[in-house]
Amino acid sequence: MIMRNATDRIVVIGAGHAASEFAGALRGGGFPGPVLMLGEEAHLPYQRPPLSKAFLSGEAPLGALELKSAAAYEKMGVEVRTAARVAAIDRRARRIELEHGGFECYGKLVLATGGRARPLAVRGLENARKPANLHYLRTVADAGPVRELLRPGLRLVIIGGGYVGLEVAAVARKRGLEVTVLEALPRLLARVTAAEISAFYERIHHDAGVAIRTRAAVRRIETDPTGDRVVAVHTEDEVIAADLVLAGVGQIPNVELAERCALAVDNGVVVDEHSRSSDPDIFAIGDCSNHPSALYRRRLRLESVPNALGQARAAAATLCGSPRAYDAVPWFWSDQYDLKLQMVGLSHGHDRVITRGGQEERSFITFYLEAGRIIAADAVNRPKDFLAAKRLVGELARIAPESLADESRPLQSTARTVN
Ligand code: FAD
Repeated sequence: MIMRNATDRIVVIGAGHAASEFAGALRGGGFPGPVLMLGEEAHLPYQRPPLSKAFLSGEAPLGALELKSAAAYEKMGVEVRTAARVAAIDRRARRIELEHGGFECYGKLVLATGGRARPLAVRGLENARKPANLHYLRTVADAGPVRELLRPGLRLVIIGGGYVGLEVAAVARKRGLEVTVLEALPRLLARVTAAEISAFYERIHHDAGVAIRTRAAVRRIETDPTGDRVVAVHTEDEVIAADLVLAGVGQIPNVELAERCALAVDNGVVVDEHSRSSDPDIFAIGDCSNHPSALYRRRLRLESVPNALGQARAAAATLCGSPRAYDAVPWFWSDQYDLKLQMVGLSHGHDRVITRGGQEERSFITFYLEAGRIIAADAVNRPKDFLAAKRLVGELARIAPESLADESRPLQSTARTVN
């Protein structure tokens, strides 16, 4: 049994966006001690967003996704071990146990375990074995095979009309597949945006030749007699023949390690504004954590790169002795066809919608107001306005609706003068 003692060592579980940023910020903040990062995937930390965009379309090779090179981690003095899954945390002994044997001691521990694709739970998939042509999209190991299978003329059924599903639909249409998107809720992107944007994207995909079905919950997956291949997807009203199926039905945070060592967990590892968990020596960052938002006066578990980076920096600052509370305004982006969607804030609860620019021109920004205050905005192909919107949402600014809609008044100066 290998066991190393390292009471001043920081051990990071997970090697994704949050972990990589944390390690850099830790060194940037002057932390001199040993740092060990343990990731279960076979790769160094890489960017996940391109998996449903440029990597899937073949525009970005695997090498382009890496966040830092092996040499960069070495230079920083950060030991990264890949294919190293952590099986348990022993808080009393302050050590973690690796799945393939061995223990590592920690002074402080950081959970950056992200999440995993939510498996489909429908009739026809009771077998433990997944049909070979049913795919999920969370890792490079998932995305590589899907990329190879996007061949012209194949019938792709996408289950789930969220970002991942719609981004894959856009790539697949460009590659000449027949695409059907099945969404159980009454509209696309229902979990993350308001009805106006859902309607816009439904139109865009429809015009690109995607068959969109809303209120179309999947009832059954029909496989061939061996159970190896899906041949059709059944909804209440339809049977859709499929050569290839992609399920994008959400994510489950990887919190089992935290639960088993009795950390507070509630839709993510519960942390404070410094990314500290219920154990002062354990931090949690990124998709696996649930943090307080002073702006929205509630707890949030976000699944986005900006959140992973922000929480990682907050944890590093605390561990470097200069704590800075994390309370960033949530934001996110999505690329579909020639459209860059950038979203800031949470629109839930809005009572008024103001749009600047035109949906027909495929360049507009929609503001969501609650009691006169701007709580969120969705920008399509409007990067400059989006920057201004980020500030407005952060301030929960009040701006006369006419000014917001009026393209002759630059948003930047409007933002400065009216509050
Ligand atoms: P992850 O990146 O998931 O990293 C966690 C790592 O920890 C994983 O490698 C995991 O294998 C590892 N791990 C888990 N458990 C263990 C264990 N026990 N031992 C060792 N290692 C472990 N966000 C955006 O902002 N914009 C986008 O456009 C966007 N597009 C996306 C497209 C796709 C297809 C996907 C899947 C995600 C997308 N996201 C996007 C979300 C974004 O990628 C995540 O929010 C971000 O990666 C979160 O970083 P993280 O470090 O918290 O988790």
